[in-house]
Amino acid sequence: MDVSVTSKLKELWAVQSIDTKINEINILLGDLPMEVADLEDEIAGLQTRFDNINSDIEQCNSDIATKKNSIQDFQKLIEKYESQLENIKNNREFEALEKEKEIAGLEIMAAEKAIRDTTKQKEMKQELIDATQEKMDVKGKDLEFKKNELIEIEKESAEEKVKLEKDRDKALTKVEERLARAYTRIRMSMVNDVAVAPIVRGACGGCFSNIPPQRKSDVRAHFQIIDCESCGRILVDKTITGLEEEEAPKPVKKTRRKLKLTTK
Ligand SMILES: [Zn+2]
Repeated sequence: MDVSVTSKLKELWAVQSIDTKINEINILLGDLPMEVADLEDEIAGLQTRFDNINSDIEQCNSDIATKKNSIQDFQKLIEKYESQLENIKNNREFEALEKEKEIAGLEIMAAEKAIRDTTKQKEMKQELIDATQEKMDVKGKDLEFKKNELIEIEKESAEEKVKLEKDRDKALTKVEERLARAYTRIRMSMVNDVAVAPIVRGACGGCFSNIPPQRKSDVRAHFQIIDCESCGRILVDKTITGLEEEEAPKPVKKTRRKLKLTTK
């Protein structure tokens, strides 16, 4: 047994233990921050849609107003023709004025049809905007709920996390620089943030691959730092962890957080 190896392993395990606690807090937060960000994006998208439909509706309104004005203009024109018809001098003049009157009448009919069509379009847009508004309201409520939950959980855990992170940094400075770098590199590459794994029922506590007997006794011998052949995590035995190898905790897996309120 190499005393310096034993203490190096203990230093590494100390860092790992704190990182595991930090990881547990992060798991408690779960996907909530991402869900909040996704909802914010979704609502922003709906808002853009809402604004676009709204400007379409405004366009419809202005088109309708223009057509109404032109109807009034043509009506005035018809009135003018009618008063002119009272003072006509000959048949040709009569026919010409009647023709003008007819054209103005047709213009009014076309404008009225355009107003009906635009009004129908506007109604469809209105339905669309109402549905968008409803969706925005639902998502907005969901967002508010999740945001509050996130704030609550963050508030509860922030202090603890800050303290743990300080402890971890302090513990990491005790680790030999080369090992500290290896530790960080291994941890970053692992999905469960575990770089130092205890032996659990004869297997690596990080990837659960079986450890060959010779390697197991090498881990226990503390002659050198031994890693898992399958995953590359640094292996430690119960004299380092203080945990019974049968009951060593499984590394936590990331699970999706269940929320009380769900929306479709
Ligand atoms: Zn492993």
